[in-house]
Amino acid sequence: MTAGAMSRRLLARLRELMARSAAPLSELAAVIAAEMVSEVCSIYALRPGEVLQLVATHGLRPEAVGRTRLRIGEGLVGLSAATGETLNLPDAQNHPAFAYRPETGEEPFAALLAVPVRRAGRMLGIVVVQNRAARLYAEDEAETLETVAMLLAEPLAAMAAGEPGGEDLATTLPRHFVGTALVAGLAIGNVVVHGLRPAPTRLLADDPAQEQARLAQAVARMRRGIDQLIAASGDLPVAATTRDVLEAYRLVAEDAGWLRRVAERIAAGLSAEAAVQRAASEVRERMRRINDPYLRERVADIEDLAERLLAALDAGAPPPPVPPGAILLARRLGPAHLLDWHGRGIAGVVVEEASAAGHAAIIARALALPMLGGVRDAVAAAEPGDLAILDGDEGHLILRPSEDLRLAYLRAAHDRAARALVWAGLAGAPARSRDGTPLRLMINAGLTQELAALDRVGAEGIGLFRTEIAMLARGRLLDVAEQAALYARVLDAAAGRPVLFRTLDLGGDKLLPDAGAVTAENPAMGWRSLRVGLDRPALLRRQLRALLLAAAGRPLSVMFPMVATVAEFAAAKALLLAERERVRPAPARLSIGSMIEVPALLWQIDGLLAAADFVSVGSNDLMQFLFAADRGAPALIGRYDILSSPVLTLLEALARRAAAALVPLSLCGEAAGEPLVALVLAALGITTLSMNAAAVLPVKAALAAVDLAAFRAVLETLRRQAGDAASLRGPLEIWAREHDVPI
Ligand code: PEP
Ligand code: MG
Repeated sequence: MTAGAMSRRLLARLRELMARSAAPLSELAAVIAAEMVSEVCSIYALRPGEVLQLVATHGLRPEAVGRTRLRIGEGLVGLSAATGETLNLPDAQNHPAFAYRPETGEEPFAALLAVPVRRAGRMLGIVVVQNRAARLYAEDEAETLETVAMLLAEPLAAMAAGEPGGEDLATTLPRHFVGTALVAGLAIGNVVVHGLRPAPTRLLADDPAQEQARLAQAVARMRRGIDQLIAASGDLPVAATTRDVLEAYRLVAEDAGWLRRVAERIAAGLSAEAAVQRAASEVRERMRRINDPYLRERVADIEDLAERLLAALDAGAPPPPVPPGAILLARRLGPAHLLDWHGRGIAGVVVEEASAAGHAAIIARALALPMLGGVRDAVAAAEPGDLAILDGDEGHLILRPSEDLRLAYLRAAHDRAARALVWAGLAGAPARSRDGTPLRLMINAGLTQELAALDRVGAEGIGLFRTEIAMLARGRLLDVAEQAALYARVLDAAAGRPVLFRTLDLGGDKLLPDAGAVTAENPAMGWRSLRVGLDRPALLRRQLRALLLAAAGRPLSVMFPMVATVAEFAAAKALLLAERERVRPAPARLSIGSMIEVPALLWQIDGLLAAADFVSVGSNDLMQFLFAADRGAPALIGRYDILSSPVLTLLEALARRAAAALVPLSLCGEAAGEPLVALVLAALGITTLSMNAAAVLPVKAALAAVDLAAFRAVLETLRRQAGDAASLRGPLEIWAREHDVPI
């Protein structure tokens, strides 16, 4: 009998048995042993307390059932559970991990094949076959038992759910992870896992030919999708590698090897979905053992393709609903997927591989979704539906928290909500210090979803509209008409309040999702942003035209990012002025400004102020270039402070020069949204601040509590006393607390 035929017959017999409700596990074990020509088949279930218990056997002594227990990591069965790997051993009893259990009577059996039973990545138990003769099981036999393990997941999960305390299985234990806090905030809710489809409900199929046909259709659909992706990347200027990477991806998609494996599983009796999942989990297993980064990427490609194939198989089926307040866990996450999940109602997101400046983080910040990055192994440890706490202030993720902890966090959430309510009362009030100095508080935005915040927080306008975000979110460059429609919506929502549109700031860390790997060694200092725009003037001109069209005669403000020389600013300005001549009606007023993000510009400030209508400090980039400290590096978070002597000296001088030149100055980096920093900036004379919308009301509240004239004197004293201290934050915080300033 061929291995395929064996597998098909075994699956068919198991299906028959399982169709009868509550077929005892011992009967399943007997069938598995008979079909695999093994003297023994045993099934171990994972019980609360991380213990594997023998629950059924054919071939070992029946009295061992219920008695034989092994901890995870103990014995060969425990080893398979601990590593999650199949063990195939010709001489099990001489393996160093072998644990002798006299009650089983397993002495005569030399060969052992142990396979973990899992569902959705969660360990449920182990299925073992044993033979007297010392031999290595053939690959086909191992694959057959692995497929059987998929089927056993159902009865093992049902069995656990039916016993007291059993429904949690290994989920009983809380797990605490520490990651990088990327977007502040708190979320308490059930876990949903990106890219982890619920286990297919139909594992076996009656008609393999029909399943093969479904597979073929899905493969065709998937290939069409990839072709479209390649076509859409055609004129991407920001990543020359894009096409190459996509072409390589297509080659993997065309590779018959892994598709043949899927087809073989179908021939053995699995449904198309189960066959793809089986092939994908084999790939995952192999991936865990591969160290070579190139190969890992290729394996990751296959995993990704399997995901596309599963999606193509249930094309048309609506996505399952997301529980209210859900927390999304993902290994990796593109901006388009994040937007999609946001639309489905998630309340927070945890990504294993993400940094503050990554695309997903930029979008999450824009959506005010609490987010953690750098949380290793969270996806593997979580089961969809687990309760979780995401603490985006401290960078913690707690899976399956204890009741005490959950209540403590709920209290914190209520405090937050109460504070937010108090702040909401400030939305209509002007931003003013206690002694009457007015500030202009504006919001940073990039998505239309954020526009409602303008009124909600009572902002005076949009001090930074990041035009690249909509493109990052959609994964491609928008054409002129699409851009013009978007910018017009922004101006409509602003209803006469100023909007500072910033031209595309792509490249560096902000690549389109399909732009491929970053090959430059220092992408933040590479060919990015305005440099791309000046080298590809057609691209920049298209955007400028879209902005002018959107204004349709209304006043328009445009600023350029990453300007390093006055000459660059002048060149960009000339492109905008030339474009203005071509668009009718021309804007009522055209203001052209520059971001100050590159330190060299500070030594060309007079020239810049003479040429620009306004300037805005991008403190995120300015800080990274001043201190030579990558803004995305978790290890450097908090190491260098904007509240330090060199930066305050520089900003104060800049404020003086801008005021003398009568050129409006603002600051639009993340730091503007920290109440303490906002107070210091106001004291230095930078009174227009643009920040994420969630920060406006807290900044207003802090400002209202401070006598700015008195604070200025305090700040001067502290600066004088600071000496060589790396930061003034400590003494400033003490002062704020002593004066009841909510920072
Ligand atoms: C900055 O660098 O401070 C800034 C506002 O721009 P971005 O964060 O988009 O680089
Ligand atoms: Mg910047």
